[in-house]
Amino acid sequence: MASSKTQTSLMWFRADLRTVDNTALIQACRQNKPVLAVFYATPEQWARHDTAPIQIDFIRRRLTELQSQLADCNIPLRVETVADFAAIPESITALANAWQVTHVFCNKQYEWNEKQRDLAVGRALKSAGIKFSVFEDTCVIPAGQVLNRQGDPFKVYTPFRRTWIEQFLLSPAWAQPVPEAVAHPDNMSAFGTDLDESLSRDCLAYPEADSSQWPVDESSVRQRLMRFCIEKIQDYGEQRDIPAVDGTSGLSPYLAVGAISARQCVTAVLHEYPNTLEKQEEGPFIWLNEIIWREFYRHLIEAYPQVSREQPFVNWTRKVRWHANQTALEQWQHGQTGFPIVDAAMRQLKATGWMHNRLRMITASFLTKDLLIHWREGEKWFMSHLIDGDLASNNGGWQWAASTGTDAQPYFRVFNPTAQGKKFDPGGAFIRTWVKELAHVPDKYIHNPYDWPDVKNLDYPPPMVDHKSARLHAIEVFKQAKAAAEAN
Ligand code: FAD
Repeated sequence: MASSKTQTSLMWFRADLRTVDNTALIQACRQNKPVLAVFYATPEQWARHDTAPIQIDFIRRRLTELQSQLADCNIPLRVETVADFAAIPESITALANAWQVTHVFCNKQYEWNEKQRDLAVGRALKSAGIKFSVFEDTCVIPAGQVLNRQGDPFKVYTPFRRTWIEQFLLSPAWAQPVPEAVAHPDNMSAFGTDLDESLSRDCLAYPEADSSQWPVDESSVRQRLMRFCIEKIQDYGEQRDIPAVDGTSGLSPYLAVGAISARQCVTAVLHEYPNTLEKQEEGPFIWLNEIIWREFYRHLIEAYPQVSREQPFVNWTRKVRWHANQTALEQWQHGQTGFPIVDAAMRQLKATGWMHNRLRMITASFLTKDLLIHWREGEKWFMSHLIDGDLASNNGGWQWAASTGTDAQPYFRVFNPTAQGKKFDPGGAFIRTWVKELAHVPDKYIHNPYDWPDVKNLDYPPPMVDHKSARLHAIEVFKQAKAAAEAN
């Protein structure tokens, strides 16, 4: 323990697992006191949040990297395991008292349970006489600060983006460097955890998965961003919708756990392409636009917390009569729908923990419209399998596809999965990678193998619905829901 005279600061890491451009860490290091760092493993909470085992494995590996980065700043990292968020106020207060912590620092999270946790932690620390400071960090422009002229949150993306850009130009937020090393009395080393031992023990409390396809060391993370900016971003507009091509950044797992910040992304793109904002039809802007979508969904859960509490944004869609069809849900989950592009995507997700954005849209539309299964089922399945699972973006994506969200796909526009496959995977390269049964089907029939004269040799399910009639049925069900809500 610290000597009775040494006052310390405590940095509490959550979804911000980096030392570079970390607002709370920078502030903690400015106090001229030794800094300690803690991360809470909360296996029961992860399970309740449907956190994917592959994301937990990724976090576990990233913590080891974070520990070595923090060591360069003389900050020991400790991993504490408790069941869930409810246990943190007592645990962190006890930890703070034991180590003469006078000030706890962290970065804000916008999700409902995380916010309730922080309020409880704030109360517990206050009653122990310990300061608690929460900083804005996860968005380039903090959620709640991009508002329309009336001072209200935006519900539609395009004007949100316009205002976001105006505000950014008035007060650009650039990435900040790693803080200088802080003073580190010898007796503080005992605070840190032997991560090899403790993390393998902690992981026993959570199903295992292997995230090693995604390197976690700092130089690989930075290289991924820089290589994307230099080698791929110019073609992003043409390539980003083609799942067979590695045309997107693959940064979502890193952004989700905060191994990289949105400010680092924006700083890199605007540094490499200073004219980005003037050339809105070019790759750099189109990519920046996606980072702003990420911000939009965070602003939404901050302004309308009901969306992160399993509620639709559009009230009348509560009346939609979703189908409870477990067999159909399982066919979708395991890539057995008989629609090759849907099945390839769902198999990619299960095998790798990642899915291409175009495919997330196609599979989400298929579940919520063709099968008329509740978007919450899809949201949960994605969350429990994605390495980049992120409540705001996942919920935003699902509510967009299901036409229950703000600025969503109108309910009468339903993706045709076969036409989407033909457009975005024309030769079927992506399908052939993930649906091995179809590897030898000629190009002409790869999107509708049941039209192939040799179909009898295929060990592949027939289409589980007739898309044309499923589409009409979905539109009718949505129409009825709207009429029912208006009649009340
Ligand atoms: P790039 O194309 O390189 O984009 C760069 C970054 O911008 C991404 O890493 C991501 O942080 C952000 N971004 C890109 N597209 C979107 C988008 N449509 N909405 C919000 N942010 C975006 N993204 C997640 O990070 N976590 C999720 O859980 C998640 N679930 C989704 C569920 C559905 C149904 C849909 C339609 C989309 C979902 N997305 C989610 C958004 C998007 O599919 C992924 O962010 C993207 O595929 C990640 O690949 P990338 O890093 O190569 O993206």
